[in-house]
Amino acid sequence: MIRLPSSSARASPLGAPLAALRGVGPERAAQLARLGLHTIGDLLLHRPRRYEDRRRFLAVADLQLGKAATARGKIVALGVKRWRGGSKSVFEFILDDGTARLHCRWWNLPFMEKYFRPGEEVLVYGKPNSLKPRTIDHPETEIVKTDEEDFVHLNRIVPIYPLTEGLPQRWLRSFIWQTLEEYESSILDPWNGLAVPASAGPRPPQRAIPDLPGRADAVHMLHFPEEMADAEIARQRLALDEFLELQVAVQRRRKNLLANAKGLPCAGDNHLIKPFLKQLGFTLTEAQTRVLRQIRRDMSGSHPMRRLLQGDVGAGKTVVAACVALMALESGFNVALMAPTEILAAQHFQAFNRWFRSPGIRVELRTGNRKTSNLEPRTSNFERSESANSALRTPHSALLTIGTHALIESGFAPDNLGLVIIDEQHRFGVAQREKLVRKGRYPHLLVMTATPIPRTLGLTLYGDLDISVIDQLPAGRGRLKTFLRTADKLPKVFDFIRDKLKEGRQAYLVYPRVEESDGGELKAVITEWEKLQKEFAPSQIGLLHGRLNPEEKERVMADFRANRVQALVTTSLIEVGVDVPNATVMLIENTERFGLAQLHQLRGRIGRGAHESYCVLVADIKTEEARRRLKVLEETTDGFRIAEEDLKLRGPGELLGQQQSGVPSFRFGDLASDRALVERARALAKAWLEKT
Ligand code: ADP
Ligand code: MG
Repeated sequence: MIRLPSSSARASPLGAPLAALRGVGPERAAQLARLGLHTIGDLLLHRPRRYEDRRRFLAVADLQLGKAATARGKIVALGVKRWRGGSKSVFEFILDDGTARLHCRWWNLPFMEKYFRPGEEVLVYGKPNSLKPRTIDHPETEIVKTDEEDFVHLNRIVPIYPLTEGLPQRWLRSFIWQTLEEYESSILDPWNGLAVPASAGPRPPQRAIPDLPGRADAVHMLHFPEEMADAEIARQRLALDEFLELQVAVQRRRKNLLANAKGLPCAGDNHLIKPFLKQLGFTLTEAQTRVLRQIRRDMSGSHPMRRLLQGDVGAGKTVVAACVALMALESGFNVALMAPTEILAAQHFQAFNRWFRSPGIRVELRTGNRKTSNLEPRTSNFERSESANSALRTPHSALLTIGTHALIESGFAPDNLGLVIIDEQHRFGVAQREKLVRKGRYPHLLVMTATPIPRTLGLTLYGDLDISVIDQLPAGRGRLKTFLRTADKLPKVFDFIRDKLKEGRQAYLVYPRVEESDGGELKAVITEWEKLQKEFAPSQIGLLHGRLNPEEKERVMADFRANRVQALVTTSLIEVGVDVPNATVMLIENTERFGLAQLHQLRGRIGRGAHESYCVLVADIKTEEARRRLKVLEETTDGFRIAEEDLKLRGPGELLGQQQSGVPSFRFGDLASDRALVERARALAKAWLEKT
């Protein structure tokens, strides 16, 4: 049995509730719970938000403007000043350390007065906002007490913890110190076995990870490092444990699969694919062909396929999915294809209906509002003729079902499921993916994503998948140019869009909000739509957003696809998958509100046909950094570079855009910078699993 850090914590004294400890009454317990600290184990992993070197203090006389520092001195005067009939106030004390005086002020917090006394010794931390006189507004403070616990709080590097209302820094630090004294020896190193050969007799415990401290030492160093650098070493060790725990789980899933499941014979015999490719109207790129070869090998292998297909926007993943579906259908198995939005599911339904019509393969659409359509998909007028057509000629009994997450609900119970395809995988969590897969008996699984996943994130999220990459765009694509503009240039931008509409092209006009909100700072589709109809008359302007019902959404998309509507005012709803090659212009307003990777996805909606495409990013740029961030999009269309940048700037949750994206949250690990640790955890987990 593998003992993971968390499970071992439950069995050991570390799992005991904090309320059981001396000195923790109901009030303290409630405060600690607000910080997410329930057990001793939780407390010992409470991560300091910074450290303060209290071995030496800066003299008040040496404080510098705007530079954070800690000073230590005696309060020589204090008081509250009020004005405007008492509604405004400032509390101030003056600190003297023998070199100079420092004014510490708190605005409109008059009750602060009761926490301090003249003559008290105090530590203050903050950035001086004036040197004449020396002043820090709203510093952090800690009163120096000379008692037997001095040594915890002074003359060392001390941890400064995140706090909550009513919980003093000094109390928490003492509490953690005491708890550490008592329980440090209960912190086990869950990976010690890693370094010891299985057959070895009794020998002294060996460190699993020789260049990093053991877990107990790391926890100690996390709170009370001897040197500043120790804190980082401790963090790395604890981060490694987090990554390891995840990697073991991910790889164990894979190991179980290989041990228990036989692959269904789904490689097909080409009798459907050959004619399909012939009528496609283009030839597959080399990258598409290479990927299909890899997949075909999986589909006839002895274990079920578990493969991630990655390809930048427009790389042509849908056609690959169609070929893979055909392999399974040729082999007599049913196929399920899940997409994250109704629009995308409907678009796939349309494309697959068209493609699979002549071989007479049944295609079915299942979305939230159409659970009942078991045999004959009920479709909008626009699609009815096509689907009726395909339903009439069904020599093949095998069925392709396309749908949204409606597919994972209980109503969908396919028999003979041979293949599951998940489009825009990052929009679904691992649990959702597994739920669909479990509808069959170990079907093959192909998940597709356009978000280029930086390697650390990929190893973390998709460690149990093989990866194929379509690293080439189809030839004959018009170029995509991106421009960054400020809002005062909008009239010119509109002129430009009008010209393009006159030339027969179509446009997306993207806004961050559905409705105008209180401040009206962010532009909303509904109000903009009214203005833009006049602006671009006589062109027809459609409106698309998440609050429309599915039929309305579908009708708008169908109109846009058929060029009955020339421009679409929309939210980031169209971010994933939408494919209308004649749309070559995209305007995105309030660009500063979007992540880089998301903007890259959005602009991936254009540049899909032969015509040159233009993406105009209109942003309210307040800082040079904001400009630099958005400039990346002007400079490159390399999705990987953009994703790396986004990961650095905004973290994995933002990069993948959703809560449910399955990005685990780490207390110590940082996916943006811990690549080496992630790689190491992967290798260690592998070694670990081989021995168990
Ligand atoms: P994505 O990878 O973003 O899902 P799609 O599958 O939507 O991309 O493909 C984008 C467009 O490129 C579609 O219109 C598709 O028909 C077209 N396409 C795909 N493969 C090729 C190819 N080999 N040659 C030309 N066009 C292609
Ligand atoms: Mg797609």
